[in-house]
Amino acid sequence: MIHGSSAPVESDTWQTLLARSVTDPAALLDRLQLHDSLLDPARGAAQDFPLRVPEPYIARMRRGDPDDPLLRQVLPIGEELLDQPGYVTDPLGEQHANARPGIIHKYHGRLLLVVSAGCAVNCRYCFRRHFPYDDNNLSTAEWQEALDYIRADASIREVIYSGGDPLAANDKRLAWLTREIANIPHVMRLRVHTRLPVVIPQRVTAGLIDALCGTRLPVTMVLHCNHANELDPSLEQAVHTLRSAGIMMLNQAVLLRGVNDQLEDQIALSERLADSGIMPYYLHILDHVKGARHFLVGDDQAIRLVGQMLTRLPGFLVPRLVREIAGERSKVPLVVQPVE
Ligand code: SF4
Repeated sequence: MIHGSSAPVESDTWQTLLARSVTDPAALLDRLQLHDSLLDPARGAAQDFPLRVPEPYIARMRRGDPDDPLLRQVLPIGEELLDQPGYVTDPLGEQHANARPGIIHKYHGRLLLVVSAGCAVNCRYCFRRHFPYDDNNLSTAEWQEALDYIRADASIREVIYSGGDPLAANDKRLAWLTREIANIPHVMRLRVHTRLPVVIPQRVTAGLIDALCGTRLPVTMVLHCNHANELDPSLEQAVHTLRSAGIMMLNQAVLLRGVNDQLEDQIALSERLADSGIMPYYLHILDHVKGARHFLVGDDQAIRLVGQMLTRLPGFLVPRLVREIAGERSKVPLVVQPVE
């Protein structure tokens, strides 16, 4: 690290960058030259869901702009503390699908493993911002039980590493888990849902590639980018490394008021993803999680927005607009028609 600066240098490891994440709202405002009036609301909302944002992500934010689309995703604000009817702590009913510690089994043929309870960034709109991660921190014996659950259900064809952020786990843990899963004959695919390379591209190391790609299982990585400004050259280099290892790269985004709710935002995101070798996959309607109401984009606006994308982009660059509904057997697509 450069003395007196939080700017990362090339030799910083991802663990160092993770450990050095900004968690104090005053430090973030100072770093971005933002007005002190934002501090009290940020401190209040951070008591409910802490601030956490790593330096490589802050480096992509505009100085002096409280409306920066990356900042809005991470800065706690007073609206989060308003009680909004219908906005709850477990909007997707995941605590009923938490089949046993570490496993969320909602859909046929695949299940989620809560590989890590931690995230590198706390996204203010996250549907798991109230998830009981403490109950999903697995001991070695509990990991064996989770693997036994997968072994016992031959319908499970795909295992999805989730969290928290699964890439917050170290490479040794990921390598062990991937080998164990590859030894289960009916599992044919591995998927990794992660935002960590977006906020700390240095997470993509040779050790990570070995850990994920060292078995017979084909690997798909679903990144979580919401705005074109997130795709800087360091992330593009990380994506290139992942693709070179044979990993299929997809993206899922959440439609967020004040972040990416304008047509030009979505077009720029899809084009930048494509230029980086990542296919747009899903655009999610906001889940009704307590504290996130101010991010909601209504269905009519969302459908119109994606309809306009259909007339501006080739079809393969238009993500599927979906909503997740507790208890449904899959994500539910919204019907979109082309709009001029
Ligand atoms: S990285 Fe993903 S799981 Fe973690 S807070 Fe952000 S949206 Fe939620």
